[in-house]
Amino acid sequence: MTRRTTIAAFSFALAAAAANETQRGTVNHDPEVVARSFAAFAEVNVRWDQDYVYVEADSMPRHQMMVGIRSWNRQVPIPQPYFGSNAFRLPLRPRFATSTVSGKESLFRGAIAVAANGVPIFNPIKQDGRTDTNLAGELDIFGGHAGRADDYHYHLAPVHLADQIGSGLPVAWALDGFPIFAYSEADGSEARNLDWLNGHSHAGSAYHYHATRQYPYLNGGFRGEVALRNGEVAVQPRARRVRPFTRPLRGAEITGFERRGQNSFRLEFELRGEEHSVGYTILPDGGAKFVFTDGSGQSRSEVYRGGRSPLEGRARERDRNRRQRGDIRRRD
Ligand SMILES: [Zn+2]
Ligand SMILES: [Zn+2]
Repeated sequence: MTRRTTIAAFSFALAAAAANETQRGTVNHDPEVVARSFAAFAEVNVRWDQDYVYVEADSMPRHQMMVGIRSWNRQVPIPQPYFGSNAFRLPLRPRFATSTVSGKESLFRGAIAVAANGVPIFNPIKQDGRTDTNLAGELDIFGGHAGRADDYHYHLAPVHLADQIGSGLPVAWALDGFPIFAYSEADGSEARNLDWLNGHSHAGSAYHYHATRQYPYLNGGFRGEVALRNGEVAVQPRARRVRPFTRPLRGAEITGFERRGQNSFRLEFELRGEEHSVGYTILPDGGAKFVFTDGSGQSRSEVYRGGRSPLEGRARERDRNRRQRGDIRRRD
């Protein structure tokens, strides 16, 4: 066989795979296989019903956050209640949409995917519809930062999780129900022939997205059907804001972050050659106390009162989930 016919045969196989999917209209995921992608992360809880896999987590990854940010909005990571009815929802039978959604034209707010460690992933282009957060220096060394509700999220594919997850499993799932793999295929070869959404199908592998080192970095929109509302995915977890959002602090560079206790954190940053810090503690009522210390050692504090305790809320959600799982077992 000549090289040209090999390529033609290969292209035909790709086209055939894609056509099969389109004709079938759906891909059927085994929920146990979907759950396996999250299994390396004890902080993530996964459950499912007939139609969806639900992913629950508090959006606080176990790696260091925030360090490396050079353009900072002064927000910090606070655990979020992405549990129960506020969990991520992945369709078990994703289907190609009749018209695809471009991340260059919408999806500038909210999550477009969820990482294998339960951290939300937003469009690499931020709310203004123009700025590439990666090129703008707004992301830490893992491609994440805290948003306006002090909600930590990534804007890039979490390829740093690949080693923990193991080969052949995705590093994230797009909210249209198609998986997102790191740069390579399961056999270690570099992903090729990606469409403008960073996706493709190939022999033995239904449609999936890949990470890339340049824009769009991950799914550049949605190939699959997703219900949108006001330009964002309609059903997705909502962050809980404890304080008004803050203004960017020009010239600051985040140099340190540590979790000092279950509910206590400290962030350090450098501004014009001086070390500053923000210590903060989540209060039992769901509020937060912040202590800001400037370069001369002067401190000031701010306290925000919460409503009901997010910890109580979390326990309630867990009880409810346990009951739901019991229901599912009984039905089976
Ligand atoms: Zn963001
Ligand atoms: Zn691939």
